[in-house]
Amino acid sequence: MITAGPTYEKIDPVRYIGNYSSGKMGFALAEECARQGAKVELIAGPVNCQLSTVNGQLIHRTDVESCEQMYQAAINTYGQCDAAILCAAVADFRPETIADKKIKREKEDLVIRLKPTHDIAAELGKMKRKDQRLIGFALETNDEQANAQDKLKRKNFDFIVLNSMRNEGTCFQSDENKISIISPQGQKDYERKPKSEVASDIVLELARIM
Ligand code: C5P
Repeated sequence: MITAGPTYEKIDPVRYIGNYSSGKMGFALAEECARQGAKVELIAGPVNCQLSTVNGQLIHRTDVESCEQMYQAAINTYGQCDAAILCAAVADFRPETIADKKIKREKEDLVIRLKPTHDIAAELGKMKRKDQRLIGFALETNDEQANAQDKLKRKNFDFIVLNSMRNEGTCFQSDENKISIISPQGQKDYERKPKSEVASDIVLELARIM
């Protein structure tokens, strides 16, 4: 199972809270897993990505919008999977209420109260059986290693793929990525390369620990 892309959390019928995730890394992972012969459940937030037709029959795609929808899809799917790679940039907060009409401009400040969303990764980490693997991503702006180590334990990941906002022209929207793989055994740093090749490094590492 692979989660990919951002989530959108509605404010009113025409506005949302989102992020810059393009879904490219998650789609590259789905393609690579299928290329290696895996049956893939791809759960995608709102993205502009298309799957190539070559491995299309091995990939089943479910499109969702909000964290709540991604959570429901992931919880219902993970039990039937050998492994999950959680690549999605899930919103950590959602507006407490969704206005049913477009919010009008006013002279006063507008305050939108936010509530924490489900931590999909942490929930799957609790569900994880001994025969299953769970891989997470971490995008950090600071204290990368310490935060990644903490996340590894807290979310019960087998390894975590760390990408840093410090590497210009990688991560969000880009076709390239520079990653480190952090596991309880240590850290492995990779060269900057196209996301398709990064996907193959990650899938190789996953295959190794399965
Ligand atoms: O805590 P942080 O958001 O940095 O953790 C990142 C990892 O957790 C990623 O693998 C991401 O897909 C996952 N995540 C999630 N649900 C959330 C937030 C993050 O599955 N609500």
